[in-house]
Amino acid sequence: MENILSVLDQQGFGTAPGVVLHRRIAGEGDLLLTLFLKGVGMIRVSARGAAGGKVRFGGGTEPLVWGNFGLYRGRGGSCHLKSVDVADDFLTLRGRPEPLFAAIRWAKLLMRHLMAEHAADDLLTSLYWDMKLLDRGDHPVDVVEFHFLWRWLKNWGLAPDLTACVRCGARLTAALWTGDGLYCEPCAPPGEGWALSDRELLNLRAVAGLKASAPAAWNERSLSPSGNLFATAKRRLESLLMEV
Ligand SMILES: [Zn+2]
Repeated sequence: MENILSVLDQQGFGTAPGVVLHRRIAGEGDLLLTLFLKGVGMIRVSARGAAGGKVRFGGGTEPLVWGNFGLYRGRGGSCHLKSVDVADDFLTLRGRPEPLFAAIRWAKLLMRHLMAEHAADDLLTSLYWDMKLLDRGDHPVDVVEFHFLWRWLKNWGLAPDLTACVRCGARLTAALWTGDGLYCEPCAPPGEGWALSDRELLNLRAVAGLKASAPAAWNERSLSPSGNLFATAKRRLESLLMEV
């Protein structure tokens, strides 16, 4: 299992790329940051004297800023921020409430579900590219949120199968989405779940299969979400995550 040791040398210094998920002021002008880093996972670090202004870390302690974070592990085991090289500050995203709140929701979900100091590099990569999609603003926020959550659940083996009936394995056309997964019409339990048409299921599958790092492919498809299809699907994925 990869962990913080993979980026810290014997003196306890190391550098890793990643993102600030959260920060709070921790008295005496110090900041307590929650970072999500490559090869490290989620880690809490303190940034001494950083709350007084942006001077020392050049804005690199703002939530949702991506960069290279220099860390130092103290004798007691606590981690301190030594430097930040900002790589991408997502400044335009910050100016637009709807995509910004989506990214903040993701950061909160990650803080709730990630294990401290366990690398989750695939999820980190997903986060970056889906934040880029939010930033571009070419697609409805609900669609990008569904994409991020679906890729996350898929990565953790928790995503429902969108192609085969959870009971009989038949290829799904129309389906009923329940807490157990998606059922074909003959298998569907009565009186519960969310009915999806063939077309709606195709739309969900199309977005689930897209790569956020290849936005051109998104543009080639007609991603015209019908009503609140993706908003509802996103909420269902969120509730699956809450059960973990
Ligand atoms: Zn079935």
